[in-house]
Amino acid sequence: MADDALPAAPHTVDEWVKSYEEGGPLRGFRCPDCGLITATWSLACPSCGHIGLEEHALAATGRVVAFTLLTVPGDEFLNDAPYAYVVVALDGGGRITGWMPSVRTEEGVRIGERVRFHPSYKPGVQFVREGDGPEENR
Ligand SMILES: [Zn+2]
Repeated sequence: MADDALPAAPHTVDEWVKSYEEGGPLRGFRCPDCGLITATWSLACPSCGHIGLEEHALAATGRVVAFTLLTVPGDEFLNDAPYAYVVVALDGGGRITGWMPSVRTEEGVRIGERVRFHPSYKPGVQFVREGDGPEENR
């Protein structure tokens, strides 16, 4: 198998994660063939199979389309549980998973609720309710 069959990634995973910690942008990809926008690290389009996706800056705002309440978290989040693990449909395209430390109960977030990205030193993509200030979260 030839190594040169795949294009080089536009950035490293470290750069990707660093942008989550330092305020963005949220990075994603756009397919030049079919226009699909995805937040998932990928070399080929999950819709049409085109190889060679273009890096695309994702919106920092969107709506919650799914969530669950995590009560048994990973080590980095031991002091944060319970909190919501959310899937957010970003404005302009792309879905991304993240977490909302301000949500403590299943009633604490609604499907369709507006949220925005808020940088955190913790792993993953932190979201807060649109309109909430950072002092109400971490
Ligand atoms: Zn495509």
